[in-house]
Amino acid sequence: MNRNVVENGRVAAATGLTPSSMTIDIDAAALRAKYAAERDKRLAAPVGRNFKPLEKPGENIDPHMPVIPREPVTDHVEFCYIGAGFSGLLTAARVKEAGIKSVRVIDKAGGPGGVWYWNRYPGAMCDTAAMVYLPLLEETGHMPTHKYVYGPEIHEHCERIAHKYGLYDDALFHTDVTGLVWEDDGKRWRITTDRGDSFTASYVGIGSGPLNVAQLPDIPGIEKFKGKQFHTSRWEYEYTGGDRFGAPLTKLGDKKVGIVGTGATAVQCIPALSRDSGELLVFQRTPSAVDVRNNHPFDPEWFKEISKEPGWHSRWLESFSDCWGQAVPDPRIMWEDYPDLVDDGWTNLAIRWRNRYRAIPAEQFGLPAILQAMEEQDNETMERIRARVDEIVTDKDKAAGLKPWFRQMCKRPCFHDEYLPAFNKESTQLIETDGQGVTEVTETGVIANGKHYELDCIVWASGFQFIAGEVLTRFGYDIVGPEGKISDMWAAKGDGGGMRTLHGLQTAGFPNLFFQQLPQTGFLISNLPNNFVPQAANVAALISHAKENGYTTINVKPEAQAAWCDAILQHGRPIGNAECTPGYYNNEGKGENIHTKLNAGYPAGASAFAKLMDEWRAPGPQQFAGVAFA
Ligand code: NDP
Repeated sequence: MNRNVVENGRVAAATGLTPSSMTIDIDAAALRAKYAAERDKRLAAPVGRNFKPLEKPGENIDPHMPVIPREPVTDHVEFCYIGAGFSGLLTAARVKEAGIKSVRVIDKAGGPGGVWYWNRYPGAMCDTAAMVYLPLLEETGHMPTHKYVYGPEIHEHCERIAHKYGLYDDALFHTDVTGLVWEDDGKRWRITTDRGDSFTASYVGIGSGPLNVAQLPDIPGIEKFKGKQFHTSRWEYEYTGGDRFGAPLTKLGDKKVGIVGTGATAVQCIPALSRDSGELLVFQRTPSAVDVRNNHPFDPEWFKEISKEPGWHSRWLESFSDCWGQAVPDPRIMWEDYPDLVDDGWTNLAIRWRNRYRAIPAEQFGLPAILQAMEEQDNETMERIRARVDEIVTDKDKAAGLKPWFRQMCKRPCFHDEYLPAFNKESTQLIETDGQGVTEVTETGVIANGKHYELDCIVWASGFQFIAGEVLTRFGYDIVGPEGKISDMWAAKGDGGGMRTLHGLQTAGFPNLFFQQLPQTGFLISNLPNNFVPQAANVAALISHAKENGYTTINVKPEAQAAWCDAILQHGRPIGNAECTPGYYNNEGKGENIHTKLNAGYPAGASAFAKLMDEWRAPGPQQFAGVAFA
């Protein structure tokens, strides 16, 4: 560990990218021991690594839009997509472009947008550069206003896509699917909903998102609190005042507000809460690693120039995943020089890794050298991030508490330039809990560090369900195919079972059903659209092929699925690991099971996955290998 950091709380490390040649005096063994101690402390905490969904079954807490009564729907559509977030919009758009006119999107939310419909907390924005995060930029002609854009712009872009592709026409919003059952005589799916709908679709896509079920920590007393409490994804502006466009939260001026959680969401909304609350108490169990944001508006002339050649947006997306491809330490791809068009916090991170691998002498290239390179890179980055805390936060105790002690990819990396300065305001207190968190909620506040804190309002920035084994909880309904229920098929059976797919897209025995999800695909967590783009193209191509050739079913061959999943199980790299500080990346430190092992990506990475899918769709003898059309 850099002894300066540990002993004096300061380090003269550079800010910005750490060149691979830069060496700082880091005692890696001491740092490893410190990280392990921080992890163990959290694992031993008596309360709070279990969560419960925010909403009870059948409940829909939507502070954003009233539910409008409507008649049940009982018709037939050709393609139905469950989920109107990015994956649904992209897939429905591609399916429409392929000539399929009868397309219905369906969503629990009151409109399109997925997480961007729900997450309207102040300061919500995307940490990935807008040029690659916003889907269908070329098709819609939209120029992002900034390098990193705010939630309202992203939400508006979702609405733009829905308008452009006519997706409102047949959509069902504020509608939760309750059942999906295959009807063999008609070779179609029957979809039932909580609004009394019962209609059929020849093809169904599901893109519920990896973070669609908001959760609360399972802390004793949480239902007892008599003040105001809400989850960040259900922000109540009526209570706080202000709006999601940045207007001050005027009604909080005389309030004592507590926020529980310091993940990516909290990092974004704490600056506004700090600015406007009478008093803000930030209850922290584990600090986030918060790197530089450096946002700026876009110059229309620049945008015009870079977007003039057709196909420009695909090239940007490829550039993003190619950068991450180079972060896979595979000598076959590592030595190629890909231009980093995107140049955001994520590609910079990937390139730091790549530079480290490249510095390994050829004769030493192998697992030990790769692991050492990864650790050295990580140590340098985390030292710089900890040094940034000292540079910005003036109160020494607060600064010490805000320093993250884990390897960067143990937790979702954050990027923000106003988060740390918010703690310089005297009325913003950091309630550091040494890894124990809030342990109880009372009628009037919360208990942390054995002390009671009176509060008017609790904001739960406590995240979302994530792990693949919970995928059916995330769907909220079972799927009954010709051979039985998917819950039986995907149940853990020792080392078998679990969610099994070919390419993450289809499961054997469930014809005409497509999943848009991270596991078993390119698994690029830093930019979800990079995962959805190839799959949207796959869905459109598969359906077109079936229609052109008069097939009525598209099914996956069990042997192809088994081979794909074996490769994932043997060589896939789940995020997080047992050495990490617990969090949703590593199943809250509860260890591996078949679900977590299958919650991994194509071993060669997202870039290679996208290229593989291009080849898989290309006409020829291997087109759609592993899929049976009938
Ligand atoms: P997270 O799951 O990342 O964070 C939950 C937070 O709640 C953690 O800090 C956790 O602490 C804390 N917590 C839970 N229980 C307690 C307790 N009893 N006491 C104190 N703290 C507690 O959720 P987020 O909503 O922050 O982020 C979820 C994901 O959403 C992100 O990882 C990211 O993928 C996505 N996101 C994306 C954005 C974007 O830019 N595109 C922006 C914002 C979010 P601990 O760490 O100790 O478990």
